[in-house]
Amino acid sequence: MRPISEAYKDFPILKREHNGHRLIYLDSGATAQIPQMVADRVVNHMLYHNGNPHRGSHILAIEASEAYENARERVVEFINAREREEIIFTRNSTESMNLIAYSYGLNNLQAGDKIVITVAEHHANLVTWQFVANKTGATLEYMYLDESGHLKDGEINKIDEYTKIVAFAHVSNVLGMEFPVKELTDKAHSVGAVVVLDGAQSTPHMKVDMQELDCDFFVFSGHKMCASQGIGVLYGKRALLEAMPPFLLGGDMIEYVKEQTTTFNELPYKFEAGTPNADGAVALHAAMDYLDSFGMDAIEAYEEELVAYVLPKLMDIPHVHVIGSTNAKEKHGVIAFTVDDVHPHDVATILDSKGICVRSGHHCAQPLGAFYKVAASTRLSMYLYTRKEDLDAFLDVLKTVRTVMGFED
Ligand code: PMP
Repeated sequence: MRPISEAYKDFPILKREHNGHRLIYLDSGATAQIPQMVADRVVNHMLYHNGNPHRGSHILAIEASEAYENARERVVEFINAREREEIIFTRNSTESMNLIAYSYGLNNLQAGDKIVITVAEHHANLVTWQFVANKTGATLEYMYLDESGHLKDGEINKIDEYTKIVAFAHVSNVLGMEFPVKELTDKAHSVGAVVVLDGAQSTPHMKVDMQELDCDFFVFSGHKMCASQGIGVLYGKRALLEAMPPFLLGGDMIEYVKEQTTTFNELPYKFEAGTPNADGAVALHAAMDYLDSFGMDAIEAYEEELVAYVLPKLMDIPHVHVIGSTNAKEKHGVIAFTVDDVHPHDVATILDSKGICVRSGHHCAQPLGAFYKVAASTRLSMYLYTRKEDLDAFLDVLKTVRTVMGFED
């Protein structure tokens, strides 16, 4: 295994300067940066092996098919799925979620049924279910949280015999909180509901194991785990995917097409219409190799160490308030906070003026903001290339924010 302390050297972008300062990237929850070796493997694929996967019998079509299918096999291994038929390539978590909503949700729910989600969901795992509820007559019910981001006692009992879908984030993109997957999944399965787990913020940062998690669907995005943008994954249990109709229609997802009728291809191709993102699949394959060269457990432990380092210092700054849990073990590299009287966009702009990138806004989780009465916040999010000196620089600038804005302290 490689030591994580070396990781930052692999990222050319971290050698950039911005506003006369070393660029410090603390927005990995939005998108992660790309190591040289991932870019090299993509460029090599594009320059020497580019062809249209599954179309044609010449060498380049064959090599592109191999690269694309090898990436699929690598995903099977990385998330410990059972078989390649369970892995569908999409553009991102959002598209994966839409595939589930349109293909499973619209066809399996009806009036009287319930969809249960948490109030902390990213809009990708929320607007989709509002849509399904509106179209089918099902009800959308929320499980609420306490101040520290944990599910309130008894909320799990909203999962009852009427519940058909239970959807929640494995790790919240605002709170950093890992929801109790086993408890929620066991409860959902005990009433015959399917579990949709949003792995966008967990897959890049910890070992995820489909057979252990036992969710029915799982989604994640390559760009949050050192691959390029535009490649994502939907994992689904085979029996469910087999029974679902296609989501997008067109080339490659068919078996036979006659003038009036079509039969559909087998899994996973039934859900992959049109020319796929083979470059993205190659990038994802390389990114999984890259992350595994350090070990996912080591990455998770390193991020916990970073949070344990920065969180108490952050909380010591007057007028700064951390949202959700203040236990370093529960933050998974994500800390959202507010600064009294200063809009998060101003906080982010002041940090940016010193070369530091953080996220500000509602983080695509507006119902959570409304629930906590914090419409917007600033978020720093870390990854394996983050260093303590980056966090020191962040803290130094953050301490000046209120005075820059004209407050006395
Ligand atoms: N779910 C969560 C928890 C996320 O953090 C994100 C990205 N911010 C998404 C879903 C959507 O991911 P994407 O934009 O890659 O589709």
